This record gives sequence, structure tokens and C-alpha cells, in this order.
Amino acid sequence: MISFLNLKKINDSFGDELKAACLRVIDSGWYICGKELVKFEDEFASYCGAKYCIGVANGLDALTLTLRAWKELGYLKSGDEVIVPSNTYIASILAISQTGLVPVLVEPNVSTFNIEADQIELAITAKTKAILVVHLYGRIAQMSSIMEVAKRYSLKVLEDSAQSHGAHIDGKRAGNWGDASGFSFYPGKNLGALGDGGAITTNDAILAQTLKALRNYGSHVKYENIYQGVNSRLDELQAAVLSVKLKTLDLTNQTRNRIASAYLAGIKNELLCLPESGEEGQHVWHLFVIRCVYRSELIAHLKNLGIETLIHYPVPPHKQHAYAELNHLSLPIAEKLHDEVLSIPLDWTLNDEDVSAIIAACNSFKAKEIQ
Ligand SMILES: *Cc1c(COP(=O)(O)O)cnc(C)c1O
Repeated sequence: MISFLNLKKINDSFGDELKAACLRVIDSGWYICGKELVKFEDEFASYCGAKYCIGVANGLDALTLTLRAWKELGYLKSGDEVIVPSNTYIASILAISQTGLVPVLVEPNVSTFNIEADQIELAITAKTKAILVVHLYGRIAQMSSIMEVAKRYSLKVLEDSAQSHGAHIDGKRAGNWGDASGFSFYPGKNLGALGDGGAITTNDAILAQTLKALRNYGSHVKYENIYQGVNSRLDELQAAVLSVKLKTLDLTNQTRNRIASAYLAGIKNELLCLPESGEEGQHVWHLFVIRCVYRSELIAHLKNLGIETLIHYPVPPHKQHAYAELNHLSLPIAEKLHDEVLSIPLDWTLNDEDVSAIIAACNSFKAKEIQ
């Protein structure tokens, strides 16, 4: 059986380093907002090429708190529109609606799964104040043209980089393009903690300061509250673990890339549509997402051959019960993608035999299996 993701194997590969980091924190007697957090924030900001990094409790909070900070700073107000992809994970949309802002769904390019400047521009109204760009599945969006549109209309840009740690365009990484960027360190992400975690990167000193207060009850100084903040902190244990794992992020991303390249070269089946990799470094392959009109038959075929697959994501946000107000929308590209996408295993601990078996299994899927 080839499982979709083997987190134990991934974390075992760090040997005793993760355990040593945890022991160091346990023995330090300091568990929240200490040295480990500051160290990881510095390391991650510099990895992304950004000036500031603010650790928070998870990726959803990273996005929500940034929008909230822009409200506190007067850039956004309740009812303002935020452009967001129609095919994203629900968290991107939740961040917008939970801040009292209005999500405006824009259809992606079917080949890259990401939204693009032309489509964004068509959706801009007098109420549009921000763009939440998602670098979906690990592929960074076309940020130069998106930033250009944002500048022309004076819009804030928030990157959702939860799936794209390390992706770059000509060396400029996700997390250093927009006005701010939200990251998730959920265990299965390219940089994953041993629990929940998240961070915001930005080059804006005032935003960074505001976020530091918002994540800690709205307070810079203990018992002095300037905002009605929340409790959303990245704890010392997770920060210490992330510092260890950050050191090999580029290496593990390269391994993902090697596996993805093997899939792209080896899978030859006209029933399957393969993803595009983009330019060098643009894709860090958080997921390898293929499309197939006969998805349920394909899932059964791969399962019979011992290969586990997942769907990211089976229901588009505008068809979710939670978003009744969006249910009437017709977004044919998102709907088609949600019907056809299938993620095959792309775990950097897969060995050559696993990769060959997955390629062979994809290639042996035949039209006659389709009822
Ligand atoms: C994982 C993810 C999030 C949310 O991150 P959490 O840490 O689970 O809160 C947001 N956006 C996208 C695109 C994600 O994949």
C-alpha cells in the first residue's frame, strides 16, 4: 500500500533533531513567546526574503488577522470586497467573511489552477479593496501582473502561501510579493509543525507591529490593550520544530520536484490531464493534482493497485452549506475542477519503486474500466 502521505516517515527522517529541539524547550521552562519564536520568526522572514515574520496559531489566523489588522489601520472597512479564487480551500474565504468583508470569487486558469490579472481586473468594483491570491497546490501565481493591477487600483494584496513555502519567481519567493502573506504549518504542508502553526510575512513595519498586538489579546505591553485582539500564538515547541525543519525545506522541495518531474515525464495516458509546472522554482508541488473526467473509476483503479489518493477539494466553496449566500453563483470552471481533480501521492519520502508503481498504475487505467 502506498499511502497518500506518511507523516511519521517524514518526521523520522530528522532523526533525533526534533526530539532534541523539544527537549530543549521542555527544559527551558519557557513555552510561549520566547526565544524559539523570535529565532524562527527571524529565520523564516529571511528565508522568504521579507523583513518581518509574525508567528500565529495556524494558517487561517494568519489570513484573518492580516485582514483584521488592515481594518484596524483603516485600509479596509466592513462590507469592502476582497477578490479570491473560486477554487480555493475554504480557509481563504473564511478569512474574508469572518472579518466582515465580502468575498468576490474569481475563476482560475484551468491549467495553472490560479487566478490571473485579467480575470481579477474584470471583477474589480468601486468596493474592491484587496486581493487574496492563493498559490494553490504549491504553484506561485503570476505575481508581477497581479501586483501591477493591484497598484493601478490601489488594492492591498494578501498572498495565501499556505501551500507554497519556498515557491519563487526569479528568486523572489512567496511571502515577499504581496503587502503581506499568510502561511500555514499544518503537519502535512511543505513546512509542517508537529501540530498547528502559522505565520505572516510582510515588509510593512506598522502592519507587523499591529499583528504582534492582535495575536496577543491586542496588547504590546502586558495588561494594556489597544485592540480587542485574539489569542493566536505560535508556541515555543512548534517554533523549535519548525526551525529544524526549515533547514531542509529547499532540499525536500527539490525532492518533491524530482518526483513531480518523473510523473510529468512518465505518465502518458490520454484519459488523464497532468498539471503544468511553470518556470523553474515556480512550483513546490505541495500536491500533484491531475484531472480526469472518470475520476471515481480512476480512484478505484488506483486503490486496487494499492495507491491511496485524495481530492483537493470535492466541493467548491460556493456550493458549501456554510455559504448559502453564494450557492446561487454559477462558476463553471471551479465546478468542473472540483468534479475532476485528483491528487496522487507526492510525499518526498516516496522511493523510486513507489514512484514507478504510481506511474505504471496511472498508465494502466483504460477506457474499458469506465462504465
Ligand atoms: C492549509 C490551508 C490554509 C489554512 O491553514 P491552517 O493552518 O489549517 O489553518 C489556508 N489556505 C490554504 C490554501 C491552505 O491550504
